[in-house]
Amino acid sequence: LHNFVGGGTGFIGSALVDTFRIFGVNTTVVSRMPGPGRITWNELERCGLPEDISAVINVAGQNILDPRCRWTPGFKQNVWNSRVYTTKTLAKAVVHTKAETFATISGVAYYKPSEIEYTEDSKCEKYDFLSELCHEWERAAELSTNSNIRQFTIRSGVVLGRKGGMIGQIFLPFYFGLGGRIGTGKQYMPWIHIRDLINLFLFAIDTKDVSGILNGVAPQIITNEQFTKAFAAALWRPAVIPVPTFLLNMAFHKERAKIMTEGQKVIPKRVLDAGYEYEFPNIDAACKQFAKLIYID
Ligand code: NDP
Repeated sequence: LHNFVGGGTGFIGSALVDTFRIFGVNTTVVSRMPGPGRITWNELERCGLPEDISAVINVAGQNILDPRCRWTPGFKQNVWNSRVYTTKTLAKAVVHTKAETFATISGVAYYKPSEIEYTEDSKCEKYDFLSELCHEWERAAELSTNSNIRQFTIRSGVVLGRKGGMIGQIFLPFYFGLGGRIGTGKQYMPWIHIRDLINLFLFAIDTKDVSGILNGVAPQIITNEQFTKAFAAALWRPAVIPVPTFLLNMAFHKERAKIMTEGQKVIPKRVLDAGYEYEFPNIDAACKQFAKLIYID
């Protein structure tokens, strides 16, 4: 077995690569930087993928919420290209191989924040930059109709785990008791534990009749306030300092602060129907796992 993982150096990608390697699957990372066990995007474009491979997965993407980057047209272009262009490049290359599966990620920003309960079958029009990005990102993953490769996309909620993503950014403030809800805290927060996201990728790769969109979220619908309480309780800290929405809009720009200030009610219907069993269906147990003081993965 030999897999390729675009963005395999990141928070999600490295967890995926580590897991493949534990299972003895030879894994090559596609990265901007050359190195052992890696190829670059340029090499990929020039030489394509080897024919004899099993699965290709793309989880590349410039961090949208990088506080060091201003929300300029140039940065937005990076955010866009690092997802849509990398996915297109892999989609183009994979059809010339004997791979069985092509898997990609996208985000729940696909759905418009509201009181509607969204499943994978809910139709949603593009309505802002992030939803347009998700639509195009998913379209970029579509393979030509005469390809026999099975394709699926995990439309993921906030991925929670100690080593990166949102928890990576808020762990210290919460640890020092400086955490709090965002705005009113009433916005929904679709979430998934990193271990479930990785297991869901493995499950879908192994389950031959799964294809198309899968909502990568836990079955428990929570709000930002519920998450804040669960995380603070797991750390045994207070979390009573709310972060005002206007401050996030100022620091990040409203267009991307939305990821934190607004949320959707997302149901993993197709995931449950396919028979996936969550390791962390509940936010309290999930928070206890990554709040441990001595953290061993
Ligand atoms: P990370 O920032 O940890 O890693 C992303 C990887 O993408 C990096 O390791 C990097 O690899 C590559 N990358 C970064 N910028 C660029 C760029 N400009 N061009 C090409 N490649 C780039 O992100 P996560 O692992 O947290 O997320 C991975 C993907 O999953 C992203 O697309 C993200 O939008 C999506 N996602 C993440 C969620 C989360 O909560 N974390 C939720 C929903 C979706 P290298 O430096 O080796 O090139």
